[in-house]
Formats: sequence, structure tokens, C-alpha cells
Amino acid sequence: MPALRLFDTAAGGFVTLQANGEQSMYVCGITPYDATHMGHAASYVAFDLLNRAWRDGGQQVSYVQNVTDVDDPLLERAAATGVDWRELAASQIELFQTDMEALNVLAPDHYVGAVEAMPLIVPAIERLLHLGLAYRVKSTPGEPDGDVYYDVEAAGKHAVDVGAWTLGAVSGLPESEMLELFAERGGDPGRAGKRQALDPLLWRVARDGEPSWAGGELGQGRPGWHIECTVIAQEYLPAPFTVQGGGSDLVFPHHEMGAGHAYSLSGVPLAKHFAHAGMVGLDGEKMSKSKGNLVLVSKMRAAGEEPAAIRLAILAHHYRSDWSWTEDGFSDAKERLERWRTALAVAPDGSAATLLEEMRAALAADLDAPTALAAVDRWAERALAGGVNRSAADRALVSDAVDALLGIEL
Ligand code: ZN
Repeated sequence: MPALRLFDTAAGGFVTLQANGEQSMYVCGITPYDATHMGHAASYVAFDLLNRAWRDGGQQVSYVQNVTDVDDPLLERAAATGVDWRELAASQIELFQTDMEALNVLAPDHYVGAVEAMPLIVPAIERLLHLGLAYRVKSTPGEPDGDVYYDVEAAGKHAVDVGAWTLGAVSGLPESEMLELFAERGGDPGRAGKRQALDPLLWRVARDGEPSWAGGELGQGRPGWHIECTVIAQEYLPAPFTVQGGGSDLVFPHHEMGAGHAYSLSGVPLAKHFAHAGMVGLDGEKMSKSKGNLVLVSKMRAAGEEPAAIRLAILAHHYRSDWSWTEDGFSDAKERLERWRTALAVAPDGSAATLLEEMRAALAADLDAPTALAAVDRWAERALAGGVNRSAADRALVSDAVDALLGIEL
């Protein structure tokens, strides 16, 4: 495997990942209130490519993923459907893991829930308060006393070393855009009593009818989302770990704030690199629950569609691009899979080594799956053209390589 180059959002360009034998990755997990849609699937498949490329290059990979098993959307969905939030979470986590397994996504070494991480989260928030990098907001009409927020300005000033975090370190966005995204993605810029509109929630004190946990000095409550990922990553991975991954909708505020929290807590950056997968729409429209146009992996599986074809349809797009799921694209993937399988039966003698080299080169260049797929297409074309000696050894190597690197079982 050649040296891996990856687009790093925080660096704003390509970086070469050092092959030092050990790699570590944290990919933000789901909030288990709904089934896995194609956007989730594409994101986890993207980082699965990185995991596979590392492993192919002889690297040990530590991979951690969280599951936000208590959060507003989960509680809202539970209330709306009359299902206990714990049952809803458990059923959706199971469905997600089944979907991932079907898509041949290698499982993380640690899959950690927010609820089980509570004993790690509470002391971290207490520490931020003691450091003067977090503060309590006083009661305002409709809101109780004591919600804890992260002070982004104080945290930025606190950081003095090279590699320190200040607001914008990950996203590089102007503040006006940050404000817009913060409001769109679960932030509360208008909350009265905050020092800065962009300060994110660390601890939400207990409200009637909401689940809550003992929070030590913080009182009963539940944590914000960014601190959850930060603390789980710090507990289970080295600091800094190699790659923080997720969908591009996590760049701000989630990964920005997580990087801030981590630096404030430890004086060490959270991750060396930040990588983001593009968004997937449906027929040119944004995929969303409210539009009712979610393409669900579980539904497709139930309809008898082969997961390998779904994965191949995803891999036809570069992971950083925004793209649309279409019936045509899926048909192409099914045809391609069939063509590859037919070609495999007549694998030409001496053809596998070149294909393997081409696939590795493509994946090393920012996980360029479409180019790797094109290499397999060319190989298949040659095999199907006939007139060559068949080889069982080449057949086995191509089959192994396509499975190991692309996660496609032929
Ligand atoms: Zn996260």
C-alpha cells in the first residue's frame, strides 16, 4: 500500500498519513431514533475504506464509535410514538448494527453509548468548570437554573501552545456562517444568559419528564453531544488519535467544539486529522425525515436487495462528494456486480497483481473508490473478452483484494 493521502478539513488540504504501525480513528455514531439511511451508510462505508486501507498497509487500527443513546431527537421521537426512549434506542441500535454488518463495514473495537459513558462525562464537565472554561447559566423564564455551557472565548485564550485550539481551528468558517450552522444543527444561539451565542451546551440540568443522571457538582441532568464524543474518544484512543471522521454536517459545530473540549481538558489536540464525507440526497433533493424521502438500508434489504450492490452503488461516488441516490445508479451497481462475478470465473492468468496495484494506488489517493472501481471494470472487460488462459490463483487474489480493499464479496 503506498503512503495514504487524505483531505484534512482542518488543514484545508491533503495530508500524508504517517505509517507508523498504529492508527486510530473515531467516527461519530448515530442517534438511534431512526433507521440507517443512505447518508449514514455512505459515511460509515467511507471510513471503512480508510480502515481497510490501513489494515492492508499492515497498520494496527483502533476504531471507536459512539452512539448518542440519549438526546433531544431520540426523546422527541419516543414521546411522539409512545415508545419508551430506551426501547426505541435499543431497537434502532440493533437495526443499525445489522445494516452495517450487511454492508460489510468492519465493526469498531469499541462502540460506546452516552449513557454508559456518564461516569466519564460528568468529571470532564466539572473540570471545565474548575478551569474557568465553562459556566452555569442562571434561570430564565421557562428554563431552570444551572445549565452548563462551554466558554469558547475563554477556551481560545486559555490555549497558548502550538497546535492549540481556538474557535475555527477545525472548520475555518467565518463567525457569521458558524452562527447559521449552530442554529441549524442543534445549537441554541439565542439562549439568554450565555456569554457568547456560539457557546455549546455541556450539561442540561433535569427537566420534568426528561431522563436525567446524577451529575456530581453539576446536579441531576444529561450531557451535551460534543462533550460525549470528546470524552469517549479520550478514554478509548490515544491523544491525539489519527483521524476524526464523520459526515460534513458534523464539521461545525460538532467537531469544532469537540476539538475545543479535548484541548481544554488535556492540553493535547483531540485528533491529528479531520476527515469528512459528503452528503447523500435522493434524486437531487436533500434526504430528510421531514421530506419523507429517506432511502433506508433495512428497507432495501427487506425488499431482497443485495447489500453488496448497495455498497457498490455508494462506492461509485467519491466519499467527499455530495451526491444523489438514484434508481439508475443502483441498477448500474447491480449490473457491475454481476459483471465482476462473471469475469471472476474467467480470471486471466497474471492479471491480478496489476489490478491490486491499481486499486491500492487509487485508495491511497484520498480513498478514491471510483478510480478503484474503474480498475476492476477494466480488468473484468479484459477477462470477459476471452482469449486468455484462466488462472485459479488470479481468481483467488482478485476476489480477496476486492473484498479486503473495497469490502465487496464477489
Ligand atoms: Zn461525535
